[in-house]
Amino acid sequence: MLIFKGDKLLISDETYDFNDLGRDGGRCLRSSKDLPASWDITTHWREVGDADGDGIASRLCAAWEDLRVVWTRFGEEDFVKAGAAFQYMNWLRLTRFCSVCGGAMSPREEDKGLLCGSCGRVVYAPLHPAIIVAVERDGKLLLAHNARMPTKRYSVLAGFVEPGESLEQTIAREVMEEVGVEVQDVRYFGSQPWPFPCSLMLGFTARWKSGEIHPDGLELNDAGWYAPEDFPEIPPGMSISRKLIDDFAVRMGKR
Ligand SMILES: [Zn+2]
Repeated sequence: MLIFKGDKLLISDETYDFNDLGRDGGRCLRSSKDLPASWDITTHWREVGDADGDGIASRLCAAWEDLRVVWTRFGEEDFVKAGAAFQYMNWLRLTRFCSVCGGAMSPREEDKGLLCGSCGRVVYAPLHPAIIVAVERDGKLLLAHNARMPTKRYSVLAGFVEPGESLEQTIAREVMEEVGVEVQDVRYFGSQPWPFPCSLMLGFTARWKSGEIHPDGLELNDAGWYAPEDFPEIPPGMSISRKLIDDFAVRMGKR
């Protein structure tokens, strides 16, 4: 069972036993003796309030941690499972009533949808697709600094897909809006669920076609072309952005 308090997950190296629960997957606590007897520990997740949360954390010698910590401690597979649990939990919390008729929503037996008991409307957990793209030019990679980022970290460009857009159109629009550059030769790289709060990151590589870099000054306050040996501080090794950057460095023979 994954236990959440707000957007924090209860993590302990000692009390988590990563058993496969079969069809439902997920991981569970090895011992339920320290959990309230009324809890059904076969469910995927449980939310607790501040008061209960602190007591449980101290009894299990565990700590409330950001979901990203799961990745560094337990790896990508567990991060994805915990992230999925977090997204469903969040969605269920926000979808107690039908937004059309106000009727009570309840889980469907046949899939992961919610059914309105009054009007029969069925809804599914939202996903927000976003592109992330590594643009290269003559052995250099386009890296930018986000104006909201408190660190000096630089990364590749990203943005949400808008209604009516193909992924290729989103890439062209985002790169043009953010740095004024036209791209070509867009190729799919890979994807990654990103539960902050419900994104699906779709990674691509592309080549520069025309234009000089002009950061938009709003979202990005700096951007440039960087050879691998001159890279500024880049994201840690858990994100698709880092995978794109590492892939570029490898292709340039620098890693
Ligand atoms: Zn309804």
